[in-house]
This record gives sequence, C-alpha cells and structure tokens, in this order.
Amino acid sequence: MEKIDIKSMTLPELKEAFASRGYESFRAKQVFQWLHCKNVNSFDEMTNISSKIKGDLTEDFYITSLKIGKRLVSKLDNTVKYLYELPDGNHVESVRMSYKHGNSVCISTQVGCKMGCSFCASTIAGFVRNLTPSEILEQVYAACKDAGQRVSNVVLMGIGEPLDNYDNVLRFLKLLSDEDGFHLSLRHVSLSTCGVVPNIYRLAEEKLQLTLSISLHAPNDEIRSRTMPVNRRWNIDELLEACRYYEQKTGRRISYEYALISGVNDSLRAAEELASRLKGTLCHVNLIPVNSVAETGYRASTKQKVFAFQKYLNDHGIPATVRRTLGADIDAACGQLRREQLDAEKS
Ligand code: SAH
Repeated sequence: MEKIDIKSMTLPELKEAFASRGYESFRAKQVFQWLHCKNVNSFDEMTNISSKIKGDLTEDFYITSLKIGKRLVSKLDNTVKYLYELPDGNHVESVRMSYKHGNSVCISTQVGCKMGCSFCASTIAGFVRNLTPSEILEQVYAACKDAGQRVSNVVLMGIGEPLDNYDNVLRFLKLLSDEDGFHLSLRHVSLSTCGVVPNIYRLAEEKLQLTLSISLHAPNDEIRSRTMPVNRRWNIDELLEACRYYEQKTGRRISYEYALISGVNDSLRAAEELASRLKGTLCHVNLIPVNSVAETGYRASTKQKVFAFQKYLNDHGIPATVRRTLGADIDAACGQLRREQLDAEKS
C-alpha cells in the first residue's frame, strides 16, 4: 500500500483515519499538533504518542519535509532566499523578508508554471507538477524554523499559478489557518493570480478573508495578450467582472499588481486607461519596476516614469504605491534560482 501524506490531511480526516485504526480519538489532535504547531519531521519526536502507535503510523504515513538546497542572504536587507529540494528531486523557491512588524514569506505553489507570462522567470523552464498541500505548507514551517521565529505574513507569489492548483492551495489555506494547527489568520495571507477567471469565482464562494492580488500588468487587451497569454483565454473585461464579483461576495479590497516595463506599459496613456478601468472599484495598485530577467529583454521603467504613473493614478482616485525592492542582490525575483539550478544540472 502506498503511504499517505499525513501533513496534507485535515484534522477531521485524521480523526477518521485514527478511529478506523481503533486509536483513542484525542490521539489525532495530538499528532496534528505535533505536525502543525511543533513542526516535527518524524514520528519518533512525538513524545506523548506510544511506541506502538508511532510504529504503526510509520508503516502507513509519511511526513513531508523539505531540504534546503541553497540559502542566500541579502547583504542589503536581510532577505533570505531558499531553494528547496523536494522529495522527488525537483526544486522550488521561497523568500523570507524581515520587516519591523515581523517575517513575511513568499512561497511557491507549483514546480514551474504553465502560464507563459513573457516577463516572468518561473515560466521559462516550463511546468513540471503541482505542489501538494504539505509541500506548500512546509515552506512556511521551514522558514519559521530557520528564522527561529513565527512567520506573520504569507504571500502566494512564488513559482506557479495558485489558481491552477486550486484544490491543493485551498487545502493548504485551511490547514494554515486551522485553530488547532498553525492558526494564521487568512487576513495575513495574499494570493496572487494571473487571472484564472473560473477559479476566482470559485474562491469568492469560499468567502475567505485573504487578500486577492491580480497580476494585471497592462491597461488593455492588446498589451496584455502580448505579455500574458492567459489574457487570450479570459480578457480584461472578464477578469475585472470576476474581480467585482469577488469584491461583492467577500467585501475585500483587491490588490492589482502592475510591473512597469520600459516602453511597453508605462506611458501616461496607459495610466489613464488603467485608471478608467479601475474607477469605482475597491482596489489598490501595486507598482513594481519590472525585474530584469536576461531572456526577456525587458527593462524596468525609469524612476521618473514610475513616479509619474503613480501620481496619475493617485490624482485620479486610484490608490497606488510603489513596491520596495528587497533582496536585489540575491535574485529574489521568483523563478530565477530554480532556473540556475536546472542549468547547473544540465551542464
Ligand atoms: N502566478 C501568480 C503568482 C506568481 S508570480 C501570478 O501571476 O500572480 C508573482 C508576481 O510577480 C506576479 O504579479 C507576477 O506577474 C510578478 N512577476 C513575475 N515576473 C516578474 C518580473 N520579472 N518583474 C516583476 N514582477 C514579476
């Protein structure tokens, strides 16, 4: 029989599995807490569980843990980038950022990505597979362990498209926020999507308190379809309609990501188009000078352009901020480290 991934199981599932094995019902909660609060990576460490049960558990279940393949610390701002080796030899990345108010971790949801955004390093090496709930979760737990401190914010903005791995991501969110587990309020979680419209509707029905981030990056279909193939499937009107639905269902403000690329989407005309599209919605725009990735040939907009773009939006009633760049010296943009690893394996 194939072993079961115990860290991906919810507490009710664990209770059921334990009941069917004839264990006392409180054992399930104890094991769940070892996995999600005390973050152990072996059954042996569960000191209040009998050797007999631990032995049985080892036969039927396995505990996912990630090996740190590389750990890069920025000299500029204490940002730490991790390259993790998964049990099957694949790699994913996370970034931990330290702020005055705590640690924030940016995690991956897939090995590679299918979405093909032309400015993004994650997509270049192609898609391999979805991450399991426990592999997503373990990036948060491993960052806590490494920092010796609890992580207070989680952003799903690493490698992969979270809404293309919907079921596993949703299970991850439930496990992360479980009051018997890590118990992180979803108010401290952001999920970023390039615009998988049907799953924005599905997520709206869950009425979660998380922040939905939309990678918009263009004010019209002509530019967006050129830079983001997903737009050929669901265009900006369809995407923004889904966002309005999400906003109505959850009452949550949506955050729009807009990477400014020199000569592509950074003109005042683009700012004007963007402002008119977002007018009247509950939104916030995050402007990011695009991170250069060698293969893309894109360059970041100048400081003056970024400032002018921001000013136009703010002057026209659209709250916009410019995202601070962290970890600039360690290639903290998602996907870059995994690609280096793949290149190294090839040579
Ligand atoms: N697939 C999801 C989440 C992963 S990417 C999404 O598309 O939202 C996380 C964010 O980084 C997205 O907003 C993405 O568009 C942005 N991004 C990707 N490459 C970038 C680059 N070179 N410079 C700036 N932002 C980039």
